[in-house]
Amino acid sequence: MLSARRLSRRYGSDDGLVRAVDDVDLDVPAGRAVAVMGPSGCGKSTLLQLLGGLQRPSGGEVWLAGRRIDTMSERALARLRRDSIGFVFQAFHLMDELTAVENVELAALLAGRSPGRARRRAMYLLDRVGLADRARHLPSELSGGQRQRVAIARALTNEPLVVLADEPTGNLDTAATLEVLRLFEELRAAGQTLVVVTHDARIAAVADQVVSMRDGAFADATTFAGDRR
Ligand code: ADP
Repeated sequence: MLSARRLSRRYGSDDGLVRAVDDVDLDVPAGRAVAVMGPSGCGKSTLLQLLGGLQRPSGGEVWLAGRRIDTMSERALARLRRDSIGFVFQAFHLMDELTAVENVELAALLAGRSPGRARRRAMYLLDRVGLADRARHLPSELSGGQRQRVAIARALTNEPLVVLADEPTGNLDTAATLEVLRLFEELRAAGQTLVVVTHDARIAAVADQVVSMRDGAFADATTFAGDRR
């Protein structure tokens, strides 16, 4: 489903070169959940941004569902991100002036769905993340855990091929982390392809496969948490 081949991203010039991602190979089969762990600065976020077409690699290839994405035009890439990739960020990145349901339906409207269909889809997803009764609240009226659940609903709006999550519980307390953890378990059980960057071993434990990064590369042979399908 999602593959990286000899993927690299370097920052800076020759004198101060940072190899943020250094010659990485990764395969995420459809329906699998992969967790990426490792110390701060080892390249996890950069890897995720390369996989999601938010950044261009310095070298190597990224493939999603049989299409090479790192060489796509900006326009094609923007459409692909909108229609096929669901992003979840540590800082939620919700639109402050929009209600929960408006945040979730916006992605569907941008993808050309009718307002009625977009609203129905958004309400269905808010119900799925346990927030049907908060649909008309602004993000500022929601807890951190609730905001992240809205962001997860938004990521699912257009039925993405893959969900990419960068430290989704990094800003959350234990109770909220458990709410998000339960959602990821449900996503995995539903067969959603998922890549999650996390420091949290509980989140990583949901994954089918855990990858450890050090200095831009995978530190060990990828360890399978066990084939649970
Ligand atoms: P992680 O997500 O594991 O904390 P990052 O992917 O954010 O790691 O960063 C990997 C390395 O790349 C770090 O050394 C970081 O300082 C560097 N880096 C990340 N983004 C940039 C940037 N835009 N410009 C220069 N260096 C960067």
